[in-house]
Amino acid sequence: MTNWSKDLSSVPALIIAGGKGTRLGLSDLPKPMAPVLGKPLLEYQIELIAAAGIKTVYILSGFLAEKIIEYFGDGSQWGIRIEHIVEDVPLGTAGAIKQMEGRISGDFFVFYGDVYVDMDLQRFYDWHSEKPSTASIVVHPNDHPYDSDLVDSDKNGDVRQFISKPHDQGVWRKNSVNAALYILTDAIFEYIPKDRSTDFGKNIFPAVVESGKLIRAYNTPEFLKDMGTPERLKELEGAISSGKTAARNIKNKQRAIFLDRDGIINDEIDGVFKPEDFELTDDIVESLKMIHKSDYLAIVVTNQPFLAKGFMTVADLDQVHAAMDTKLGKERTFVDALYYCPHHPEKGWDGEIPELKIECDCRKPKPGMLLEAARDFNIDLTKSYIIGDRTNDTLAGKAAGLKASILIDRTGTYKDSKEQNEAYDRVSSSVKDAVAEICKE
Ligand SMILES: [Zn+2]
Repeated sequence: MTNWSKDLSSVPALIIAGGKGTRLGLSDLPKPMAPVLGKPLLEYQIELIAAAGIKTVYILSGFLAEKIIEYFGDGSQWGIRIEHIVEDVPLGTAGAIKQMEGRISGDFFVFYGDVYVDMDLQRFYDWHSEKPSTASIVVHPNDHPYDSDLVDSDKNGDVRQFISKPHDQGVWRKNSVNAALYILTDAIFEYIPKDRSTDFGKNIFPAVVESGKLIRAYNTPEFLKDMGTPERLKELEGAISSGKTAARNIKNKQRAIFLDRDGIINDEIDGVFKPEDFELTDDIVESLKMIHKSDYLAIVVTNQPFLAKGFMTVADLDQVHAAMDTKLGKERTFVDALYYCPHHPEKGWDGEIPELKIECDCRKPKPGMLLEAARDFNIDLTKSYIIGDRTNDTLAGKAAGLKASILIDRTGTYKDSKEQNEAYDRVSSSVKDAVAEICKE
């Protein structure tokens, strides 16, 4: 993350607000006008946009557009300028945006009017501005990746592929779901056909990537959820009133539980080289569900020296982590992020990768991965924890200044080892117990 901030006052926001509220039981209101705690869903977006310093908003509506126009008017009540664009024939999400060709230039935000969003827009825009691209899209893991539209990207967020549902069976997929909020550049217009219904996720973004242009995926644990059903709307109202949605905004300090991978997420074996080798431990699903119920982030930090040793490639490791995501996803859970160290310090083996054979800052017991996560997600390390089955993990936690570093000792062998006591804060016999204890504190 950079420490400078780009001015948002000249970056407009477009809101696609043409949806019908049929599934919400609304016959006389468009979906974005669905009442949430007595206020239209769309008004929360307008407030978020105005608070970020954005000055111009285009609301693209169709179905019962007059209700939106009547309520929001010229936007002066919110200190912004709102322009209403009414579509006669619905042409999909991309088709709606096509109407703006020639009217706006440079970067612009695109919101979906039926998604509740509470995120740091400035941070997203600063990230977008770090590297030239045609589009930046918000992604997050969810608890049903098997029936979601997925976005496959590399470690830096450069998108490789868009994968629409339904998914092929027996393929390992990264749990990275299109969260329906974008920053686009005006270069996108040439990819959108006129007078034909098109969708960003299904048609336009895949075409951009196929043409060799860059799209970037911005992974964030912040709150973005579409309000498709009355149940979701009720859940949302609960989350807003309890302060949960606002607390997740990365403007506010986050708390995390860092998890070692081998022995904690998956059974420890002598090298996990293939997706098939990745078997979830007995209590990790239950443990992750507990973490997500609390307000902690679940972040994996793992040493992967086999990359440096040349025993596996980054592509192999990606497949292993896609297997992790797919297996956790089947059980309706996920991790918020994963960091790995590809390095190893000792040189001198056949087939090793010389540039990875270095003394780095990220290999545990060094705290580099935890510090990087703290920067990425604005984590308060003094209120965070690490759970691992080696003192390498707990020492990294201590070096990062965590609240507590917990050693998982399933056999009771560490407890007797006096010289190890300085290396961790406490011992737990299972991950589940460790998480339960943290959640009680
Ligand atoms: Zn490293």
